[in-house]
Amino acid sequence: MGVSATSGPGDAAAEKQLNVLVFGAHPDDCDLRFGGAALKYRALGHRVKFVSMTNGDTGHYSMGGGPLARRRYQEAQAAARIADIEYEVLDIHNGELEPSVMVRKLVIERMRTFAADLVLCHRANDYHPDHRSVGLLVQDAAYIVTVPNVCPLTPPLPQAPVVGYTFDEFTLPTSYRVDVAVDTDPVFARKVDMLHCHASQMYEWLPYNGGYQEQVPAADPARRVWLEERMRQRFGHVADVARQALQRAYGDERGAAVRTAETVSFSEYGRRPRPEDVARLFPFLPAPA
Ligand SMILES: [Zn+2]
Repeated sequence: MGVSATSGPGDAAAEKQLNVLVFGAHPDDCDLRFGGAALKYRALGHRVKFVSMTNGDTGHYSMGGGPLARRRYQEAQAAARIADIEYEVLDIHNGELEPSVMVRKLVIERMRTFAADLVLCHRANDYHPDHRSVGLLVQDAAYIVTVPNVCPLTPPLPQAPVVGYTFDEFTLPTSYRVDVAVDTDPVFARKVDMLHCHASQMYEWLPYNGGYQEQVPAADPARRVWLEERMRQRFGHVADVARQALQRAYGDERGAAVRTAETVSFSEYGRRPRPEDVARLFPFLPAPA
């Protein structure tokens, strides 16, 4: 699958191509939180890379270790093919990601070699220790990535990337602030196609862990339909929480009609985006009136 046929003059080919780098803790986090936006960037010819900081090797009730890590890697690659993006999975055990200096260097090297303009991650206040570690690692890299003598064999970027957090609803010590909201309705079915690839999570571990295993249809296409409905509820809620930001971006009428959304909250530790940076970094949003 190549660059969308909708690309043309004024799109990434003519202007600067954006490099959007998304860090998640587990091999489905990036897809869940930013898969729709990734599809929108790709439709305009921009580059997107997902990085799972762990290999997901404990996230199941009957599988584990190497076989589960390899299964989840294959699921991630299948999702990546749908979005036409690169999906890297680091071989770090699930549940054991630590915000150490060594792992921070892995993050810095990836920000540099991908020449990231925009970096997304979890916030550092999150229920899962691996999610918290990803937030800390990216925050801790956000400034250090500009220091040439840190990881001196990987040339630094001319300017620090803008860093943002994907949606969550944790409130302590601070609630999530929606800075940018993205209408994912036009790409939502394809986002669900990506999530459908993560069968070990969507149809097995998460239902088991959440106590709703009996709701999952046994086979396709019924379970794909079930997943889409579940995800429409989840990201419909995100759209409701982000309604003001959606109406700011898309206007009152269209913003009110958006049914599924993804969001970004800018980090204070990366480069602070000016309004013109926001327009450049989110090229699929309507131009400000
Ligand atoms: Zn996760």
